[in-house]
Amino acid sequence: MYKHRRRFIIAGITSLFLLLLCLLGFQESAAVGEAKQAEFCRHLAEKVAFALFQHADHEGQFPDTLESLKKNGLAAQYCGCPRGDRQPYTYVSGLRRDMPENLPLLIELHAPHIFYASDGRIIPYGLVLYLDGTIIPTARELLPEIMEQTRRALAIMRKSEPGQALDIIASPSRHSYLMQAAALWRLRQEKDMFFLPTVREYVAMLGKNRALGMPYQGDIQCAGRQAAYLLWRGDREAALPELVNDMKSYQYFIRKRAWHTVFPEIPAPLPAYAFISMEIPKEAVNFLRSK
Ligand SMILES: [Zn+2]
Repeated sequence: MYKHRRRFIIAGITSLFLLLLCLLGFQESAAVGEAKQAEFCRHLAEKVAFALFQHADHEGQFPDTLESLKKNGLAAQYCGCPRGDRQPYTYVSGLRRDMPENLPLLIELHAPHIFYASDGRIIPYGLVLYLDGTIIPTARELLPEIMEQTRRALAIMRKSEPGQALDIIASPSRHSYLMQAAALWRLRQEKDMFFLPTVREYVAMLGKNRALGMPYQGDIQCAGRQAAYLLWRGDREAALPELVNDMKSYQYFIRKRAWHTVFPEIPAPLPAYAFISMEIPKEAVNFLRSK
């Protein structure tokens, strides 16, 4: 009887162990499947991004809708997430290539992807494509906030008076770096340079941060770039270090914009290798030093 019970317990433990292995295997294969789907989605988003940037380069602005990209030959299946029910990417219309590069261009607002964390948590997320071409997986609860921040940044760029934009720049503790970058962009549309001292201080502060080896913060760098672009018109010497830094950026779109700002006399379109290669910007830096 005792022997029989022991056999029963061993059989029970074995089947429990097998069940656990099955569950772990399922979790693992689900995680692998999800990762593959997300990778494919990123690949599609890159295709759409490339078509959007090409359109902006040729037409001077992004298309009003993703639909018009489809008309120009981009297959319809590229304009949505490959996972599940193929929800279309949310497209932020009305952006321009010279706007702050931490503005999102495409967002997966419905967060269709799932990340299996090592502690067992299941985290839904969506991909966000930014104006500098980076694609960042972002947790679901942050996506509405990104949309709200984008809406506010667009309002500053389209509707604010120069004085309001200057107020935003002058009070960094009350406004996010995206808002400040939007305000700096707004001022770049003005010809009057009365605001230069504030902008110069801003660029100097960011330069100091970099010299101190402050950790990477995309938003701060973005605002610094916008300030440097603004300063470039009035004080090239002060703006140049920030732009030279951008000319060496690992981001193609940032390099390209810095190049065009510093060397506008070079007829467009420049050969693509001028931006793709990290070596060419270095030559440009040497050229600037020799001047
Ligand atoms: Zn997706």
